[in-house]
Amino acid sequence: MWFLNRPDAANVWKNPEIKERYRRYSGILDGKNHARYLITKRIPVNISLEEPLEKLWEEHDKIAKEFDDYLEKIAQEEDSLKNMAIPEISFLDLKEKIALEILKDCHFCERRCKTNRKEGKVGFCRLGEDSILSSAFLHSGEESVLVPSGTIFFAGCTFTCVFCQNSDISQEWCDESRENISGGVIVSPKKVALMAQRLWKEGAKNINFVGGDPTPNLHTIISSLKEMNENITMLWNSNMYQSLEATKLLLEVMDFWLPDFKFWENEFAKQMSGINQYREVVTRNIKMAYTQGSGEVLIRHLIIPGRVEKDTYPILEWCSKEIPKSLVNIMEQYRPQYLVQRDPDKYRMINRRIYPEELKNATKKADELNILWKPVS
Ligand code: SF4
Repeated sequence: MWFLNRPDAANVWKNPEIKERYRRYSGILDGKNHARYLITKRIPVNISLEEPLEKLWEEHDKIAKEFDDYLEKIAQEEDSLKNMAIPEISFLDLKEKIALEILKDCHFCERRCKTNRKEGKVGFCRLGEDSILSSAFLHSGEESVLVPSGTIFFAGCTFTCVFCQNSDISQEWCDESRENISGGVIVSPKKVALMAQRLWKEGAKNINFVGGDPTPNLHTIISSLKEMNENITMLWNSNMYQSLEATKLLLEVMDFWLPDFKFWENEFAKQMSGINQYREVVTRNIKMAYTQGSGEVLIRHLIIPGRVEKDTYPILEWCSKEIPKSLVNIMEQYRPQYLVQRDPDKYRMINRRIYPEELKNATKKADELNILWKPVS
């Protein structure tokens, strides 16, 4: 039983500050609030889905601006979800259609490969139209506020972190030719929905979309929501390198955000994870989730050896200033794995665990900045 080895998970909700900061999530757990995706199913769209993508986005953005009004009316009981009819074409249908259009010219992440994945071509992440499921289970190792978490792991990633702790599903889930897939099985949206329903029945507090990274699977995830009706928190557990367009699709369906925020210096991010403009993209997306989405965010910051001053401090300063009501998990579990382990001379600087002093300095800084980290670290 998950709660036997996680007494912190049972106790964390007694903390009034946590209850306040995660008010909507807590309300969904208590059955008082509705998961956002359930509301998107009931908002009508007055446009044919055959219109060009530009028109679909215009309609999407117009409804997105009104979304908080729908939430407010339901919260004030001026309107009830039960009384809201399912429209012929819903906001969720519109999101699904846009996601499927993006797949034809893939820009789910800021690599913007522009490949037609609908025709089976693959981009940098090596994923075509199909999503590959690695595993799905009730996870008792996540942060206290999240467990047990109904975790759905997709194979494939938009990053190539040299120290990846999950390289079997992020990088090595298939061979170069992509003919042999060892890291999972093809999964349909319906199957994802069935797994989410099973996890919900088993007691999951949330459905936790992760990988690898969930971003290349956005079309599958949105389509799976159409097959579900359970009032459960939808959680985006990601490197947050998704494109602006992908973030906009996510804002009204995700209730809780669990972003990684590892690097501050772009040059180091490029060396470690092979991506450009890390800081600009990730801070943009986190800020959008905080100000335009549910606002309920838990940052995961992995301390990297030798990088406390260059990355940890400025990241904590940014969090304290820009997303002050979020919690931060200050993670000490860095291990030299994957390419670092295979070529330790090349990665000498990061070929070690972090020193106790580095953790001490990171948490001291978080305390100085009044960041709430202890209940989730
Ligand atoms: S998800 Fe990103 S890496 Fe994968 S094909 Fe699309 S743009 Fe490229």
